[in-house]
Amino acid sequence: METTRDLAIVLRSVRFEDRHRIVTALTERHGKISAMARNAVQSRRFGGCLEPFAASEWTFVSRPGSDLSRLDGAVIREDFPGLRADFTRVAVASLFCEFTIRLAPANEACPDLFKLLSNALAAVEELPDPSGSGPLVNSFLAKLMQWSGVQPHLHGCLECLAPLDAIAGIENDPDLACLVKDAGWICPRCRTTTVRHVRQTELGAANLIDVPASAMLDLYTGARIPIRQVRANSHATGRAHQTLSNFLTGLLAYHVPGFDRSELKSLRFLTQSSD
Ligand SMILES: [Zn+2]
Repeated sequence: METTRDLAIVLRSVRFEDRHRIVTALTERHGKISAMARNAVQSRRFGGCLEPFAASEWTFVSRPGSDLSRLDGAVIREDFPGLRADFTRVAVASLFCEFTIRLAPANEACPDLFKLLSNALAAVEELPDPSGSGPLVNSFLAKLMQWSGVQPHLHGCLECLAPLDAIAGIENDPDLACLVKDAGWICPRCRTTTVRHVRQTELGAANLIDVPASAMLDLYTGARIPIRQVRANSHATGRAHQTLSNFLTGLLAYHVPGFDRSELKSLRFLTQSSD
């Protein structure tokens, strides 16, 4: 048994029996970890360190052959109080944590993912108006995809290669036919002349999702700048970003090996609350 220290962001925290907590966290150098915090409920020796989204320095002990570590101590680094200020911020931050739980490797260093999550939580906290979280969610999903090695083809039509900015500049913000299986989109003109766009994947999920070009342009920008700058550099409507979220979630579910396709609770909430 070996005592380890690492920075950890709490992804999920559940009560175990009466007095304990089991906390799942993303750590910088050991990936996803679940740890038992004994007597956490009454003793308060962990302070706010076990709350969802809290970032702290953990001291923990892992046993060979066991998935559950033992949390011995935690010192708070950043508890993001503004994240808990309203329901929408909590839902967006929870969504980020749910995706991270599905994608993070266990017991493997993932400093880039750790940095992405920590910046994404800071960006949610900084949002001037939480109802405008769509661009942030989509930029997070795009960056997660980059981190997972999925490279969708977003800068031009899959058929005629017409560039995104040319189409997004057309009046009335035309829809792009986004194709999950092909990981790209086709322009309004090619849509009438090709038959590549089947409506469902073999998994039964939607393959073709209409997304306004303006949202795709936001995404194209958002994937290339730090996530904390995304809100100020986005222009499409909340509804446009909602359809884009559906496309990006479809891409992750279809193209990332091992992605758990069960429903994302926080995404359902955001779908209901948009507009
Ligand atoms: Zn085209």
